Amino acid sequence: MKRLSTIIAGTAIALLGLSACGQSGTPDAGGASGSAAAPTYTVADDVKLDGSKTWEAAKKAGKLKIGVKKDQPGLGNVTPGSDVPAGFDIEMGKMIGASLGFGPDQIDWVETVSANREPFLQNKKVDLVIATYTINDERKKVVDFAGPYYVAGQDLLVQADSDIAGPESLDGKKVCSVDGSTPAQRIKSDYPKAQLVTYDTYSKCVTDLESGSVDAVTTDDAILRGYAAQSDGKFKVVGKPFSEEPYGVGLPKGDSALRGAVNDAIEKSEDDGVWKQAFEATLGSTDGVEMPKVDRY
Ligand code: GLU
Repeated sequence: MKRLSTIIAGTAIALLGLSACGQSGTPDAGGASGSAAAPTYTVADDVKLDGSKTWEAAKKAGKLKIGVKKDQPGLGNVTPGSDVPAGFDIEMGKMIGASLGFGPDQIDWVETVSANREPFLQNKKVDLVIATYTINDERKKVVDFAGPYYVAGQDLLVQADSDIAGPESLDGKKVCSVDGSTPAQRIKSDYPKAQLVTYDTYSKCVTDLESGSVDAVTTDDAILRGYAAQSDGKFKVVGKPFSEEPYGVGLPKGDSALRGAVNDAIEKSEDDGVWKQAFEATLGSTDGVEMPKVDRY
């Protein structure tokens, strides 16, 4: 499964006319536009999270399993020829892992797609999900969230010469998104005249945009900017976000000790500059970008 989707992601990138060679290992290996060095993380050795079943089981196993995307440049991405994911979500994972007492070699990066994030948390396939995961009430019925640590907005990715100017120009157009995602849901409910095509990953949508079989790809602007940056000028992001997507760290429902600890780590990363450095190393400039206030609901 992991291998197959890596290959598919690789195909999408190859179709964009990029070479698949040797960037792995550099801080921006999967990055959209980041160029600064990634932070280094100090692994805490005095963690005690009494009452967190998730943390206790992970500690016993010596592994923290984090669900991430692997085909979203700048956020969570694996470049062909590498199996090390890179991106802002991955840096958040390393930062949170370190604060919980897990070094980078004790983190298992498990691929999640949009539709399986809740079931993976419910079935304990992962301990945390850090995967462009919007916090909302529907999801909170079955999982919990720490954060938010970033706020994205739904936008459109189109061919550079397209005249699609926003969601209102989607009537009769084919627009691609992903099953189990908030952007697909919003197209269905708010823009029913658009013809929605869905896959399990956004890189498949990007392949369809490249071939001309869809007119637009819709998801969070942060994700789309990564694909645009890798497209050699073929694609553009329309740039008129039409939703708010607060990114949270998904957690098993009811593990409030773990939720508190992850919220502490997120807040600390703002105070000590690690959040900013991680952002600049992966997504690019933080001009005009601020970390949102953590919501300890
Ligand atoms: N943030 C949105 C969501 O959680 C879209 C991105 C994604 O599918 O991962 O559904």
